[in-house]
Amino acid sequence: MLAYIGLGSNLNNPKQQIKNALIALNTTQDVEVVGLSSLYQSKPIDGSDQPDYINAMCQVNTHLTALELLYACQDIEIKQHRVREKKWGARTIDLDIILYGVQVIASKQLVVPHPQMMSRAFVLVPLAELESDLKVPVLGPIQDLIDKIDTSVLKKL
Ligand code: ATP
Ligand code: CA
Ligand code: CA
Repeated sequence: MLAYIGLGSNLNNPKQQIKNALIALNTTQDVEVVGLSSLYQSKPIDGSDQPDYINAMCQVNTHLTALELLYACQDIEIKQHRVREKKWGARTIDLDIILYGVQVIASKQLVVPHPQMMSRAFVLVPLAELESDLKVPVLGPIQDLIDKIDTSVLKKL
């Protein structure tokens, strides 16, 4: 299965956090990182006073189920000392499953396609970088989604 995982960090050397998470993902049994976008910088989505975020998107080939992949991502977050404070608070690393093949999932633990993806430049732009003619399940062509948002908030590094 081909899946897309969004990575984000705004604490303790964000670029290194993202690198470490990618290595950890690729080291996970039955997960192979096969694509990686550029890094992008943007302001926190809640407008609060915290450091800028660094985001990237990766493409993985995996034999894990979507839920197993989520647990693998959460393991990596724990190993990189993510502390869950308030919603959308500063964090060392955040790994979100954006797409899992063309599957549509809506369980208590996991919603895929990621429910906020259509409004987030830091998700859509790096995703389109990896697959410019992607058709997102339920939501439609990635380019149409990008046309509806402000991408000037994003700085490509
Ligand atoms: P957002 O989801 O708006 O990006 P966040 O990433 O800060 O916010 P978290 O605290 O990391 O939110 O995650 C809260 C919960 O979201 C997780 O415990 C997980 O069960 C759930 N979740 C639902 N869908 C997904 C998904 N596609 N990828 C990752 N987590 C998800
Ligand atoms: Ca997130
Ligand atoms: Ca998350």
